[in-house]
Amino acid sequence: MIETINSSKQAIALEDKYGAHNYHPLPVVLSKGEGVFLWDVEGKKYYDFLSAYSAVNQGHCHPRIKNALVEQAGTLTLTSRAFHNDVLGPFEKYITEYFGFDKVLPMNTGAEGVETAIKIARKWGYEVKGVDENKATIVVAENNFHGRTSTIISFSSDENARKNFGPYTPGFIKIPYDNIKALEEALEEENVVAFLVEPIQGEAGVYTPADDYLRKVSEVCKSKNVLFIADEIQTGIARTGSLLAVCGNCTCEGHCEKQDTYTKPDMLILGKAISGGFYPVSAVLADDHIMNVIRPGQHGSTFGGNPLGAKVAMTALEVVRDEKLALNARKLGKLFRIRMQKLVDTYKILKLVRGKGLLNAVVVNDTEKGSTAWDMCIALKDNGLLAKPTHGNIIRFAPPLVMTEEQLHECCDIIEKVVREFEK
Ligand SMILES: *Cc1c(COP(=O)(O)O)cnc(C)c1O
Repeated sequence: MIETINSSKQAIALEDKYGAHNYHPLPVVLSKGEGVFLWDVEGKKYYDFLSAYSAVNQGHCHPRIKNALVEQAGTLTLTSRAFHNDVLGPFEKYITEYFGFDKVLPMNTGAEGVETAIKIARKWGYEVKGVDENKATIVVAENNFHGRTSTIISFSSDENARKNFGPYTPGFIKIPYDNIKALEEALEEENVVAFLVEPIQGEAGVYTPADDYLRKVSEVCKSKNVLFIADEIQTGIARTGSLLAVCGNCTCEGHCEKQDTYTKPDMLILGKAISGGFYPVSAVLADDHIMNVIRPGQHGSTFGGNPLGAKVAMTALEVVRDEKLALNARKLGKLFRIRMQKLVDTYKILKLVRGKGLLNAVVVNDTEKGSTAWDMCIALKDNGLLAKPTHGNIIRFAPPLVMTEEQLHECCDIIEKVVREFEK
């Protein structure tokens, strides 16, 4: 029998009893979403300030993406790649032109996208760069977040993500984030094939590097014949106020390659909002001289490139461009940080605000082990706004990008009210 949910308590009890305890969610049970809003089982309405970790940049249940999904779901959903389908080709053309790369390799989840990029980089290392057999090394940043597979957690700094999941995959060197000197030193090692990095470290607590960091990363990598891999699974698709974080401060809605702002990575990994929260789709983009190392039978996924996901992703990307979401994220992000900075200046309970576009974080004046940020998120929830702490004392604020200025101010009022209560 399929149980009907009548209360939040009942739903939480079921998850507690029958589900693995691999998450620690806020005690709210959601049953409906529309645009920037979510509703719980009891009918209470909330502003969403997490956007499913930036997977629903286009807003919940966007009607255009929904229609594309429904239409394709009634036509053809999955063929596997044993055969061609009539949506994959148009999707591959659309996404490569959209982001300015020769080729794409479609997968499903973000972690699969990262795994794909790692495999391509290693193969490129052996077959193009000529590194020693089984010696390929990939440089990564400390405090990274790239997903949850056993290879990816092998180079995580997060003990909770790593402990007792060994033995770990070798072949990775960790260096400090936002540190060009450390990168230059690491690239002196033999057999380095790639540097894998997030343009802004989202999970770590929205750490934004120096303005010229990515450009320098690209230059250093190029000079050592090492691939620069940008994981834009969280920062991409207009979240930080431009189409990609590697676009710098460019606000145009498409791919433009403006020389002064754009830093083209050798491989770009996308996921999350590439499908507007409807369906897991991820993608690795690269030019031919890299992507052509992959031959039939060497990599794949049963669902990767399926017509349903391909149709949803194309439509989700069209929405980003047509609704000028990058521009809106940039505009609202500035307003948000101005409002939060006023709170930081006024109340001792907040330490600082940082971020770019609508990917922001507020650091609470407490230790990482303290409960203030969690308690504040509970109070925000009670006041109709959903956000989640990351790393104990940091609250990430990342609403859907379809928010209006008026709504943003209302949300800042809610945050201000809660902060004032905690100051007492
Ligand atoms: C979420 C995320 C991933 C992993 O994506 P999943 O779809 O959860 O596997 C990888 N890298 C970054 C930067 C992310 O934010």
